[in-house]
Amino acid sequence: MQLILFGPPAAGKSTQAELISKVYDIPHVATGDLLRQDVREGTPIGREAKKYMDRGLLVPDDLVVRLVREHLKRRDAMNGFVLDGFPRTVSQAAALNGLMKALGREISAVIDIEVSDEEVLRRISGRRICPTCDKIYNVYYNPPQVPDICDDDGSKLYQRDDDREAVVERRIEVYDVQTKPLIAYYRRRDLLIDISGDKAIDAVHAEIMCFLKSMPESFTAPF
Ligand code: AMP
Repeated sequence: MQLILFGPPAAGKSTQAELISKVYDIPHVATGDLLRQDVREGTPIGREAKKYMDRGLLVPDDLVVRLVREHLKRRDAMNGFVLDGFPRTVSQAAALNGLMKALGREISAVIDIEVSDEEVLRRISGRRICPTCDKIYNVYYNPPQVPDICDDDGSKLYQRDDDREAVVERRIEVYDVQTKPLIAYYRRRDLLIDISGDKAIDAVHAEIMCFLKSMPESFTAPF
């Protein structure tokens, strides 16, 4: 099963992708996480990407496509994958098509998690992350038991630099202009599934699972 999780920043893509990845035992490939890892490690890709990420802009297509190609060719992606945060431009979607062809696969579905602009702002401003295990919390909806401390490993939570107010508006604008056209792109290809993300994590997951379970067995079966 080759799934794309689509939606605005903080729609809940990562949280839902992680849940799906556990249910079907397929890797969760999140370009934002991969880029942040490169930034932390100070690799050439990370140094280049940081210039764009810090300003809420998209990293150049060729760099991101290279990163995704590397991950989708891995053995653990043989039975499928959940893409999160990719593609983000029509040209990335075209590159993904080429990649799928080369691998003899097809995208199974694009799950579009829809969230209102007000909700996006509230979620982003409340988002906190554990630096050790990458677990995502939200101070309003899903707070840790002790403020600012990870429930699982006791690390001090942090706020992503690009979740700060000055950058958030730019990210939403970039989503509207560069990424949203993909909704029509995938709808035309009859791949788009609309899911309302303005609900609790479990409720959104249940709706996604309801869709996945309604598909023929071949859809979710290992490759
Ligand atoms: P995310 O964690 O998905 O919100 O991504 C954080 C940042 O990483 C974005 O604001 C972009 O700067 C960069 N990024 C992640 N995925 C992509 C992509 N597919 N194309 C270009 N830039 C990306």
